Amino acid sequence: LSQYRGKTVAVLGLGKSGLASVKALIQSGAIVWAWDDNEDSRHQLDDLNVTPVNLVECDWRVPEMLVISPGIPSTFPTPHPAAEKARRAGKPIVCDVELLCTTVPGTPMLAITGTNGKSTTTALTAHIIAQSGIKTQVGGNLGYPVLGFDALDVDDCYVLELSSYQLDLLNQAAFDASALLNITPDHLDRHGGMTGYIGAKRTIFARQKGPKWAIISIDDDHCAQMATELAREGGHRIVEISVNGPAPHGVYVDDHWLIDDLDNARDPILDLATVTHMPGRHNWQNIAFAYALCRARQVAPRDIIAGIMSFPGLAHRQEQLGTIDGITFVNDSKATNAEATAKALSAYDNIYWILGGKPKEGGIDGLDAFYGRIKKAFLIGSAAEAFAATLNGHVPFEQCGTLDIATRRALETAKADQAERQASSDTASSAPVILLSPACASFDQFKSFEARGDAFRDLFTDLRTTTADIA
Ligand code: ADP
Repeated sequence: LSQYRGKTVAVLGLGKSGLASVKALIQSGAIVWAWDDNEDSRHQLDDLNVTPVNLVECDWRVPEMLVISPGIPSTFPTPHPAAEKARRAGKPIVCDVELLCTTVPGTPMLAITGTNGKSTTTALTAHIIAQSGIKTQVGGNLGYPVLGFDALDVDDCYVLELSSYQLDLLNQAAFDASALLNITPDHLDRHGGMTGYIGAKRTIFARQKGPKWAIISIDDDHCAQMATELAREGGHRIVEISVNGPAPHGVYVDDHWLIDDLDNARDPILDLATVTHMPGRHNWQNIAFAYALCRARQVAPRDIIAGIMSFPGLAHRQEQLGTIDGITFVNDSKATNAEATAKALSAYDNIYWILGGKPKEGGIDGLDAFYGRIKKAFLIGSAAEAFAATLNGHVPFEQCGTLDIATRRALETAKADQAERQASSDTASSAPVILLSPACASFDQFKSFEARGDAFRDLFTDLRTTTADIA
């Protein structure tokens, strides 16, 4: 960030990315005016020898720009007063990704956005590229702040997950390959409506010059329309992705085969039915995108396939923990609403479903289509009564109260059913799955969805140990 040496830069919001920005700017010789409305957060500046500057009351003629945490509104619904002051003073308002992009022009950058599947696609892409022998740094909206990255050079690669909030805070950033997975209504309050949300997502393709790859789904109307508009604009290499049928010159799924038509060869690359650690059509979409992104970074198809097959998956997102007596445990604790849970239910048959927690509006309405896949539901948390009323008469269920009891009961039930099936020589049914996909927030019983998923993983480990002891 040497371009900021001796210049004053304001940083608002001292979470992980804000603190990393402060550190990187100081190391580059910038004068940093940093602030957070929360006093405890401001105390983190003590260790860095930075005195907080109240950005609502300061002289806004001085800072060059405002680096704002993407979680803080700078436009809708109500801009933070410091952002309002910066705007009135004509200062750019950006996020840390803008600083990274304007600092390391030589290193290839792959950027990924979409309403759903961002983290999975980002982690998968980074895994494949790293496995192929290219030095890689991965972050952005996924975990690691980008200004904490090691400096890479032109042969390496940055893989960035970008939220619509981050995309709204880019002015000059341009990416070597950009991917837009899907668009469904989300975060509309922060973008002033659907048009603003789509506009933010579109920023990922802005300023791409030359043969830069614009990788975009044609499976939903918003993305398909954007693909048409980008084609009309010209200047991109547009790579269309579909899991529903042919995407000429792109990457698509035909039946259960991943087809590479980037060189117009319609190569069947991979039988997706064999990728059992990433089940479901939504994962096929993530795989198709990761494939195209890696091709953009010139990774050979056989290396991409090897990377897909060795991907360990992301914690808490349909994470396969392992099996006990042929019963697979899947941790989908990240599924905090019915829409996300629908994806998990669609990916398996023969499900022993653990659900509940702090319910969202609408509860588990709209999941009826999957009831036939569910052997039994095990209810926990404060949503249990309401969910029981929804399931009553459609899906057998048990009130379990806690995750601990639900997991033990699910295993006992699955084992008993399995013994019955074996006795009747039923080999047609698919393998049983104990699925934690709560369709609820965790806060009634856990600190976070991560803590809930970790508890489930610990229970699985305990149960596997005790089962092995008995055996
Ligand atoms: P994000 O980072 O966009 O929130 P994740 O990769 O963390 O997405 O996945 C979160 C949940 O969204 C998953 O547990 C899964 O149920 C669902 N999901 C994953 N990929 C997709 C996709 N391509 N389309 C729709 N839903 C998806």
